[in-house]
Amino acid sequence: SELTAEVVGVFRSSHGDRGREVEMEIAPRLPGVQGDRAQLSQLLHNLIGNSVKYGRPGTPIRVTLNEGPSGMTRLTVADEGEGIGPDHLPRLTERFYRVDSGRSRAMGGTGLGLAIVKHIVERHRGRFDIASTLGKGTTITVLLPPPVEEQQGKIDEKKRPSALSGTVS
Ligand code: ATP
Ligand code: MG
Repeated sequence: SELTAEVVGVFRSSHGDRGREVEMEIAPRLPGVQGDRAQLSQLLHNLIGNSVKYGRPGTPIRVTLNEGPSGMTRLTVADEGEGIGPDHLPRLTERFYRVDSGRSRAMGGTGLGLAIVKHIVERHRGRFDIASTLGKGTTITVLLPPPVEEQQGKIDEKKRPSALSGTVS
């Protein structure tokens, strides 16, 4: 929760000029995720960065964090941008793959962002899904497993940290 809020904060302060508002909704008392902070920060940057780059000016980007199945943490990053056609979806996580190479090149980047996200999700034994409709927008969902003690039932749900409780937007 803390890391998500931190990365969203960076985008709010540095990308405001592009006219994208980043909305954030973080559920209270999440089980948490055991992992590499730098990699998870990179994952958040790559996903939110794509929504900023390929979103539509004047439409918001929504970042949510809540509890998924089996105590997993579910992160979604959604935009109302140009979307991705069904032909391209299966190939997006290939290294250097870009939907429209001419236009994407003009925007900057290498086509590595989602390949890196996929790698980080796998390293954390998580799952990753891209849902997109051309002309409507894209929603990326990442599921990350809880810390081992949570999985073994050693942490009482009521004792989870709740420093970031409620809805922050
Ligand atoms: P890099 O992330 O290395 O700067 P990139 O953004 O082009 O470059 P990826 O993040 O891997 O690379 O994304 C691959 C391609 O998927 C992009 O070039 C773009 O065409 C498409 N894409 C990714 N995210 C979105 C999105 N939110 N909306 C629309 N298209 C997207
Ligand atoms: Mg990218």
